Amino acid sequence: MLGAPGAGKGTQAKLISGRFGIPQISTGDILRDNVARSTELGKQARAVMERGELVSDQLVCGMVADRLAHKDCERGCILDGFPRTVRQAKWLDQYLDARTFAGRKLPPVVIMIQVGYNQLLQRLTGRRSCPTCGRIYNVNSQPPRVAEVCDVEGASLIQRKDDKEEVIFERLKEYERQTLPLVEYYREQGRLHELDGELPADQVTAKILTLIERPAAQAGSND
Ligand code: AMP
Repeated sequence: MLGAPGAGKGTQAKLISGRFGIPQISTGDILRDNVARSTELGKQARAVMERGELVSDQLVCGMVADRLAHKDCERGCILDGFPRTVRQAKWLDQYLDARTFAGRKLPPVVIMIQVGYNQLLQRLTGRRSCPTCGRIYNVNSQPPRVAEVCDVEGASLIQRKDDKEEVIFERLKEYERQTLPLVEYYREQGRLHELDGELPADQVTAKILTLIERPAAQAGSND
């Protein structure tokens, strides 16, 4: 699942994960968890993440390899926020070439969620999440019933450190610099499915479900 920060990758990945009963693997979530627990990986990643830059390919690919070895990935998984560079994508291609899932090859479905710049800014600055269940809200477009409190857990919502305005600009620049070439890499190979991420979330989900259920669907068109 590709897309700029704020495009809705996490929201969609969670929904799709529930629907198919396969895990959502968010490299951002794994890194944040490591930072919170002050693991060796977290110590190496913390400052880079706080600046809004990308963590090294080597660290992230190693982390993804570990995660994909877990039993819950046997039937596949949703990669959310990975790959994010051409080097990561090449690593993933090699990994998938050598790997089977429950005895089968699983060709990846590459989905790019497109959202315009102004909309991204609005979404990122308004984003809040529940520290207990991870549910995502937006103070502008999807507020909780009680301001700043999770509807389900009753916990006080938090704003990610890197959702502050100065870091957001860095993350969007990094996206253009490092991730757009990756989009081009998949597009040139005819493997990219592009979706309009400004549609209502349930319509985006429906389109993603169609793509996953019809993996042979024509890539390269705007779906
Ligand atoms: P996200 O939650 O996907 O917005 O990721 C938050 C931060 O984690 C990013 O700004 C990067 O610093 C780091 N990160 C997440 N995924 C990757 C990745 N695939 N490659 C490098 N850095 C990543």
